[in-house]
Amino acid sequence: MSEFSMFEAKQIYPRTWQITYSFVQFGEKINPVFSYLLEGDKYSLVIDTMYGYGNLRKFCETLTDKPMKVVNTHFHGDHIGGNYHFDEAYIHWRDFPYFYSDGTGAFPKTVEALYERAKSVALEEYKDKLDINDFKIQEPMVLYPIEDGDVFDLGDRELEVIWVGGHSPGCIALLDRVNRCAFTGDCCNSNTLLGGGLNGLSVQQYLKNLIHFYSFRREFDITYGGHQILPARVVEEGIELCGKIIAGTDDKVEYEVLNRRMIYGSKRGEKGKLPDGKVFNMSYRPDNIKGLVENKKRI
Ligand SMILES: [Zn+2]
Repeated sequence: MSEFSMFEAKQIYPRTWQITYSFVQFGEKINPVFSYLLEGDKYSLVIDTMYGYGNLRKFCETLTDKPMKVVNTHFHGDHIGGNYHFDEAYIHWRDFPYFYSDGTGAFPKTVEALYERAKSVALEEYKDKLDINDFKIQEPMVLYPIEDGDVFDLGDRELEVIWVGGHSPGCIALLDRVNRCAFTGDCCNSNTLLGGGLNGLSVQQYLKNLIHFYSFRREFDITYGGHQILPARVVEEGIELCGKIIAGTDDKVEYEVLNRRMIYGSKRGEKGKLPDGKVFNMSYRPDNIKGLVENKKRI
């Protein structure tokens, strides 16, 4: 595809890159979206694969010559779309049933539709440069289940899996103790969506999982998410807001998505800013506040 690359990488730590699309105008129409590539002595780990525009594997091969493994923070289409260029992937077992459904039906199902979608979000100067041969659509692939406490041992560095289910049943964070950061996908951010058409867990279960995540809090200072980079205090702010929702003392800002009534816990002020300089917000279904999931595999 000549010298034009659909991706760009920013090094955030030694042998650690944040990858995003270079050809997209992020803004109202589309959120920024990130993959991460972590190189180890034994293999390199790709955390999430974004929408699937272009060949992410080829791009990663320009940064690392190690064999690569893919881990998905959860099953949504903006995190697994590029999986199909790789041989296999790891995902929390609670997201297995949803892997091929994306949960919303909002993501393309044919190569042509994916290509058209990429063109529709491309900056004007790149629209003609996209090559449909670089696109690949969902197909059966080897998936391995992971769960809380599993460790990706890259040789000279390790990433520990922490289950933070809520936004999806199997959402995870990956703790990088050496760099004092956590890769969090969509598990806690300024727009954490629980439920809607997205198979979210109850607020009560999410709170339980956030408290579990908080037990690692002394070991990281920053969260690298699928769409945002936020200070680690996003975790305690999440715990606080979940507590308010359960107590019924949150702001209760109603909205509708996919024909469902949803509620935001915190009201945004001017320019969409959250109160008191906070960085966490979440939405939930009013009928999905209480309830715990069984911590058992169902096979
Ligand atoms: Zn998501």
